[in-house]
Amino acid sequence: MYNMKKISLILLTLLFLGTLDYLTKERNDYPGAELINREGLMNHVDYLTSPELNGRLSGSEGYNKAAEYAADQIIKFGLKTVNDDYYQYLNVEYNEIKEPLEFGLIEDGTIIKEYQIGKDFVCRGFTGSGNFNAEAVFCGYGISAPELGYDDYADIDVKDKVVIAFKYNPKWKLESGNWPTGYPRQKAHFAASHGAKGILFVSLPNDAAPQKTIGSILCGDGDQLVDFPQLHISIETADELLSSRNLTLSQLQTIIDSTKHPQSVSTVSKVNLNINASYDKEGVTMNVVGLLEGSDENLKDEYVVIGAHLDHVGRQGEIYFPGANDNASGSAAVLELAKAFSKNKSEIKRSIIFVLFASEELGLYGAKHFVANSPVPKENIVAMMNLDCIGHGDSIRLGNGKSAPKLWDLAIDIDHSTNNMTVDNTWSGGGADASPFHNAGIPALYFVTTNSYTHLHYMTDTAETLNQDLFEKITRLAYMTSYEVAKGNYQREIVIK
Ligand SMILES: [Zn+2]
Repeated sequence: MYNMKKISLILLTLLFLGTLDYLTKERNDYPGAELINREGLMNHVDYLTSPELNGRLSGSEGYNKAAEYAADQIIKFGLKTVNDDYYQYLNVEYNEIKEPLEFGLIEDGTIIKEYQIGKDFVCRGFTGSGNFNAEAVFCGYGISAPELGYDDYADIDVKDKVVIAFKYNPKWKLESGNWPTGYPRQKAHFAASHGAKGILFVSLPNDAAPQKTIGSILCGDGDQLVDFPQLHISIETADELLSSRNLTLSQLQTIIDSTKHPQSVSTVSKVNLNINASYDKEGVTMNVVGLLEGSDENLKDEYVVIGAHLDHVGRQGEIYFPGANDNASGSAAVLELAKAFSKNKSEIKRSIIFVLFASEELGLYGAKHFVANSPVPKENIVAMMNLDCIGHGDSIRLGNGKSAPKLWDLAIDIDHSTNNMTVDNTWSGGGADASPFHNAGIPALYFVTTNSYTHLHYMTDTAETLNQDLFEKITRLAYMTSYEVAKGNYQREIVIK
């Protein structure tokens, strides 16, 4: 009995040590980890956020330059093409917002105040063009759903006027039916169908931390209104327009939310709009894809995908959104991982696909395209690592752990034996570019920092705001985790939806 116990204890210990092999490693036991450093990462970020790249909007020349840069790096590291081309092309809606971009307050037919782009207002990514003066009319949430018993346009005339509407939907819902999506494009269509000439979106003033004017191209489905300007104005600007009626935006939101009834009202104020954009329904953009072949005859037909979105929300005349954290940081990490792996491939049994996705900001189009047109059999993709917003904040969060718990455990164990910088909470369902992979049954891990979104989609998302130490550590964690997976120390698990 005693001996049996002893033997099984020894066996258990051996088993335990075996499975925990990677736990005992120090960071430098992962060949190549030391090649990943803040200087290399920041070099990429500095270029990707430079004015020359104009905020990397998919479809623009600036994005193309970013893609060319990424492809050049991948070629330099000796990576191969997957389908005879480092680019994987796709079509996306593209809207170029050009000068002049003017928005002003009118009194007696003349402009008495010019609002400042980037501070008082920004254009919505899919703004149309227009040059006119018009009265501004407040129309609550900008929802027209008479069939549900709620219509912000019911008792107000907006013909040839400009609508002010909350950017988001209310936090409450009426009982019946399908509530409108709340996407800007749908709200713009509601306004246009009532005869308005443009729309000024505004954040909810009663939120704990109301959103400032942000660069955003997320607009929802529908046709483009090419002659219909769409701005996002500051709460202060909306209040200035409402001041002629002795009203504030906050008062109006309070009334609507407490009564669940529209409170539309003309501001009496007149504004001038001169907005210029040119729209292309079939803009051309591309993912950048490179392959590092695995060294094992059998396992090289299995793949680890390491991806990040390269695009951001572009330029509007004199201002642009640099997107250092979102997502020059993740893009830089993918390039540094490609470098480190390309110089340390002897233990890498599975193949690794490095991919920079286009058009995440419009709705994950690059990642969706990659999965729908996967250059390798999807069932052979063992895991996907997504790096998005990893340069600003305090610590490391590994997302999608509830859907791929074994992959998550692997990364957490590596972190615990090295930097110990991860937080416990995670989520399920993929998230951003990990979602199309998750939806296809591919286990995904989403690398992100905590408190990452301070500057999200603001002009202040600059290289100077990045936490370089954290940026280096999370990138190394992504490397070490990918290293274990590529080495074969992880079997594809069934994702939990
Ligand atoms: Zn973004």
